[in-house]
Amino acid sequence: MEQQAVQLDRETFSCPICLDLLKDPVTIPCGHSYCMNCINTHWDEQDKKGMYSCPQCRKTFTPRPVLEKNTMLAALGAIERRSGFGRKFKEEV
Ligand SMILES: [Zn+2]
Ligand SMILES: [Zn+2]
Repeated sequence: MEQQAVQLDRETFSCPICLDLLKDPVTIPCGHSYCMNCINTHWDEQDKKGMYSCPQCRKTFTPRPVLEKNTMLAALGAIERRSGFGRKFKEEV
């Protein structure tokens, strides 16, 4: 049970682009979360194509979705960072 919880936390708190803990987490319309910076950079590259996709599920969005900070994830991430979870996570990856 405990191990499962940790697994879930990793998925919840890590960014699929930089593989680090989410920094300024934002959740896009398909429900996936990224660092504000990572998804912005990803979408900046797609700007010329005029469509924006989720790197995880490849769902495309037009126009570019407005990103709003996921305050819940940010708060949880801050707690995790304080408790040393982030450091442990990095070492294992
Ligand atoms: Zn990231
Ligand atoms: Zn997605």
